[in-house]
Amino acid sequence: MGTFTGSFKGFGVTFAHMFRKVITTDYPFSPPKPAPRYHGRHILNRHPDGLEKCIGCELCAWACPADAIYVEGGDNTDEQRFSPGERYAKIYQINYARCIFCGLCIEACPTRSLTMSNEYELARDNRQDLIFTKKELLAPLLEGMEQPPHPMRLGETDRDYYVGALTNPGTSVGAERAPWSDAATHDASEPDEHAARAETAGTVRREGAA
Ligand code: SF4
Ligand code: SF4
Repeated sequence: MGTFTGSFKGFGVTFAHMFRKVITTDYPFSPPKPAPRYHGRHILNRHPDGLEKCIGCELCAWACPADAIYVEGGDNTDEQRFSPGERYAKIYQINYARCIFCGLCIEACPTRSLTMSNEYELARDNRQDLIFTKKELLAPLLEGMEQPPHPMRLGETDRDYYVGALTNPGTSVGAERAPWSDAATHDASEPDEHAARAETAGTVRREGAA
């Protein structure tokens, strides 16, 4: 009798599901859209003139509980400038075989260089390709930006860039999805024709700047 009741209950669950709304998505042709604050692939943002926001401080790497980030800083010079101030990230890597998408790294970043996008299509067919470098992580060059190295265009000192930068959400518009989604390989530093230039607070292009 107990077996009969158990079977009845079990089939009852199956029967009830037959009348529920079917959740089938036409992936990969119509990929589902995640929630706006979904933690996906990281982005290394740029200032509105194209200089990198990352200063190679390694705070993100120290904050990471999965030891997924590797940063090696380098010195900027007047001839070779990649970011405002003294230092930039000479090497920046995130290992997506380790990352648990907790977001602690972006909380630790003092310049709002590091943010997370909604990009979730991160499966690769070998472990080496899961290590993303600056080539993949840097936000694309939007209108009005130029490829570093180049001099500071938005001010005389790094203070002109970083004071008030915490209210700046980052120039990541157009980088929410991997720039190489449409093509097998694509340099993330190439401009995205569909991307609009982001509004930024605290860093405003000076009139007459080259
Ligand atoms: S999201 Fe979490 S696990 Fe992933 S790199 Fe950042 S701190 Fe590390
Ligand atoms: S992403 Fe942010 S926390 Fe990480 S090295 Fe660059 S500036 Fe520092």
